Amino acid sequence: MTKFVADITSIVGEKNVSIDDKALRSHSEDQSPFAAVIPGMVVTPVSAEEISEILELCNKTRTPVMPFGSGYSFTGLSNKKGSSTLVIDMKKLDKVLEIDEENQSVTAECGIIVGNLTDKIREMGYYVNTVAVPYYKDTLGGMISGVVGGGYPLYASSVGLNNRHILGLKVVLPNGAILEVGGKGSNIYSNSSHMREANAPDITGLFVGDGGLFGIKAEATLAFYPLPPHWRSRSWLFRNFEDLWNAIDKLMSNKQLLYDCLSAFSPSITEVYTTGGESVKNGCGLVYYTHDFSEKEVASKESRADQICLSSRGVSGPDALNEFAERLRNGEAYWKASEFTELLVRRASCAYFTSKAAFKNSFSSIQSLVEERVAEARKAGANLTTAYIIHIILQNTVWADAIVYYYSDETRPLVHDIMREAHKFAATQGVTFETHGGYAADVMASCWSPALRELIKTVKNNLDPNEVLNPGLWNHEFS
Ligand SMILES: Cc1cc2nc3c(=O)[nH]c(=O)nc-3n(C[C@H](O)[C@H](O)[C@H](O)COP(=O)(O)OP(=O)(O)OC[C@H]3O[C@@H](n4cnc5c(N)ncnc54)[C@H](O)[C@@H]3O)c2cc1C
Repeated sequence: MTKFVADITSIVGEKNVSIDDKALRSHSEDQSPFAAVIPGMVVTPVSAEEISEILELCNKTRTPVMPFGSGYSFTGLSNKKGSSTLVIDMKKLDKVLEIDEENQSVTAECGIIVGNLTDKIREMGYYVNTVAVPYYKDTLGGMISGVVGGGYPLYASSVGLNNRHILGLKVVLPNGAILEVGGKGSNIYSNSSHMREANAPDITGLFVGDGGLFGIKAEATLAFYPLPPHWRSRSWLFRNFEDLWNAIDKLMSNKQLLYDCLSAFSPSITEVYTTGGESVKNGCGLVYYTHDFSEKEVASKESRADQICLSSRGVSGPDALNEFAERLRNGEAYWKASEFTELLVRRASCAYFTSKAAFKNSFSSIQSLVEERVAEARKAGANLTTAYIIHIILQNTVWADAIVYYYSDETRPLVHDIMREAHKFAATQGVTFETHGGYAADVMASCWSPALRELIKTVKNNLDPNEVLNPGLWNHEFS
């Protein structure tokens, strides 16, 4: 046993240190076709204090560290140092620490699976904003670090990105110091606060969507809200993308927000949820749901949304698509049924956000590039297909995902190349990528202004002078 292994073992205990092939491989890749990078060691601490001691040791030995949630990102992991990297797997920090019903906030350890946290809060008749899709996969810390704005939930259309619902964090800084930020943490005499920007500049935001560049999140405090009891879910079909976008555009422009969730699918995805018939087979599906505190209000929103869809030449969706809309609303599609996750396996994604005004141009150029590359690959014999999903995030912001499905491991390198090209091209269209880690972060950083690059470099150098935490993330050797 080397001295380093002995020292790490004395911090976390023998059973929490792995160097066997299986453990290393299961921390070597995410859900993308990007190539695996095998680390040198995996440790599973159980507290912020243990993480702190690990980071102190890694500073002494200049050992690169990569925090790991569940590996549910999709543009490659952030390990740039290969087998010299020590992975800190967060899964054992999985407790809900405090539920403060009076102040509607919950504090949990950051290795908790977000679905387990959300389920606890739902049982009480409230909701807490986490993710829409990898519900029983993402960890709280991975979600807050690895996605723009700390992730986006099912109800993003009405509640926005998670950023605004994260009230505070306990972060282990790269040098091992433990810092509490947010309303509760920034004033040592405060027990709770919903105003994270109240007692100091909003430092919490520095650690949201940083990909794990500035610190390791050990605990997070999130706001929760009462679940509105009345709801409607509906689906519509459109003959082509033009009609579909026309309806989405009008729905987004309506002065009153008519939906909590509004999602649209390419014909290839819509088909999976419909029972047959030509018009259904070639149609673009649109599903929405809306909640409110009064039955009258929810019925009025539904009626207005349906008028808009009709006026855009939509036809009411078939039972199968309506059922899917309902399963989205009650969470089953994401949380229980396997069918939606089946659509997500062996797929590569270029997922991005644009403003509503820029959406149509960005979408058509990114989608065309991906479809052209896939058509070329198919001519050469590769079995690939394309699809897209559009999801409305805010009244002025659209999320889209250009998807390539692949069906064999041999095609992985080819799909990987298509996705690298798609990301590079998409960045030049001014989009923001969904994930903040791996390749997506590298490409986004290549678009930073010199002044922003300098600022981030200064902050990183000060917090992490030996560059031990996620070195190379955001395409920089900062020191
Ligand atoms: C099919 C699919 C659908 C998705 N849909 C959604 C969605 O609906 N909404 C949404 O918001 N996101 C969605 N995502 C994105 C996903 O939420 C993020 O990629 C998230 O970061 C994954 O969490 P994780 O725990 O697996 O983190 P990992 O993938 O393990 O890590 C992500 C990054 O965060 C860092 N990190 C992990 N834990 C910590 C920590 N405690 N402290 C500091 N840094 C840390 C890692 O070093 C890495 O750079 C989807 C992903 C997939 C694959």
